[in-house]
Amino acid sequence: VAMKPNLLQAKLWSITASSCREFHVKDYLPQGARAFINGKWLKSISKQTFGVTNPYTNEVIADVANCDGTDAQIAVQAAREAFYKWSLETTAKERSNVLRRWYDIIVQRESQLAELLTLEQGKPLAEAKGEIQYAASFLDYYSGEARRIHGQVVQPPVLGRQHFHTREPIGVVAVITPWNFPTAMIARKAGAALAAGCSLVIKPAEDTPLSALALAETSQEAGIPNGVFNVLPADRLRTAEISRYLCESPEVDCISFTGSTAVGKLLLVQSASTVKRVCLELGGNAPFIVFESADLDVAVAGAIASKFRCSGQTCVSANRFFVQESIHDQFVEKLAAAMSKLVCGNGLEPKTTQGPLINEKAIKKVHHLVDEALAKGATLIAGGKVFGDKHIYEPTLLTGVTTDMQIAHEEIFGPVVAVQKFTDEEDAVTRANHSRHGLAGYFFSTNLSQVFRVGRRIQTGMLGINEGAISCAEAAFGGVKESGMGREGAEQGIDEFTQWKYTCLRTQ
Ligand code: NAD
Repeated sequence: VAMKPNLLQAKLWSITASSCREFHVKDYLPQGARAFINGKWLKSISKQTFGVTNPYTNEVIADVANCDGTDAQIAVQAAREAFYKWSLETTAKERSNVLRRWYDIIVQRESQLAELLTLEQGKPLAEAKGEIQYAASFLDYYSGEARRIHGQVVQPPVLGRQHFHTREPIGVVAVITPWNFPTAMIARKAGAALAAGCSLVIKPAEDTPLSALALAETSQEAGIPNGVFNVLPADRLRTAEISRYLCESPEVDCISFTGSTAVGKLLLVQSASTVKRVCLELGGNAPFIVFESADLDVAVAGAIASKFRCSGQTCVSANRFFVQESIHDQFVEKLAAAMSKLVCGNGLEPKTTQGPLINEKAIKKVHHLVDEALAKGATLIAGGKVFGDKHIYEPTLLTGVTTDMQIAHEEIFGPVVAVQKFTDEEDAVTRANHSRHGLAGYFFSTNLSQVFRVGRRIQTGMLGINEGAISCAEAAFGGVKESGMGREGAEQGIDEFTQWKYTCLRTQ
């Protein structure tokens, strides 16, 4: 794959592509791998770096600054100072304009940003482009929303007073994000937070810091003032140190986290001492129900869209498939046929639909879940093994899955469809709700009464009915139960980053 020498007008890191030639970004702009703090590209205070690996080639493609608690302190200080200017000395219209410029730059750079995303994350280029568009859509949406953050004038109970409710930005927001959507998970939070007037300190996932740094570069070009958008890359060990600092610092007003439920719970506990707002977008365990009244072709298309995007590594991925007995075999046959068209390979190659899982640990976990299900009696219809010598897991279809198997309960985070049979509507709903998670859910039915009945009973924050790809900037994204608290996207996304102030004005 030909690498573009102007990749991101890149000036931060050196990339070695295994493909046709070596590509050293530092040859063009020699600052090396840096964190982005207060508008400057800085080494970590400790001068330490860590390697970023291309999950397809398994080669280290960049060395990035490995920040620690001291770097975090500097970034938070910068964000605190910048917050006052950004929130008090810019108008909503100016913030709106900056977000719009940022959107324009990202759209113009779609191809380059997507290539970088695929290099460090592995997903197919078409999906990476989709992610860049999805990320940009939040900047576009919140560019508009910035101008509509309204307050209220409320009735006083006595004469001689006026009462107001105003919405104020919450302050400095610490953002911690996962590797599966390294650009979009930041943009989804940043769009709303910046519109509200907040400043950000971002700790991207250790597997995918480059996309975050690319966002920082574009944010600077868009005119986001110094200190308003900071990025602190860190490896797993230092992540724990930084996150603890961010949670415990009284200078940080909000933690906005997307990632696993286990880490989310930890951050919630760590934030308790400062009673700061904590917004959590956590793991899912989405039910995917196919009723006998479903249009099976629509259900199969929904399954492919929901299950195989990002090789199954999405929080809204269909995880538990429940198929009504009467149409089970027919559905499985059609799904197997659709799955046979999926193509494993290097995400940079246009025909690839299934890239690698993020790392060795992820492959092992998926493989273990499949093996355990097979050992307990599941039937393998397709896949069930690693593709070649890569971190790619073949699209896999299992039937005869029962509740004593781990795969029936755990978030698989891989391209595996594990089908359980159900008898009737009550059985389906009971099984679907039997989970401590409740992020997305899907069901397929053409029976209108059933659609309304079941729709009301599924315990998830988001529901796709006869649809497998549901997320957009205009809709509120988030979960119930242990899938998190708070919503991102839509006007609800602004709530996360604002707080109400009541003002009582004596007029007589
Ligand atoms: P993860 O929780 O391991 O990592 C997420 C972030 O937390 C990363 O930046 C990581 O560096 C950081 N982190 C890891 N250990 C930490 C610690 N001890 N203290 C503080 N921070 C720490 O999750 P992941 O493996 O990167 O992502 C997969 C998970 O994220 C899945 O469960 C998935 O469902 C979830 N997810 C949820 C959403 C959503 O919107 N609800 C979106 C994408 C992913």
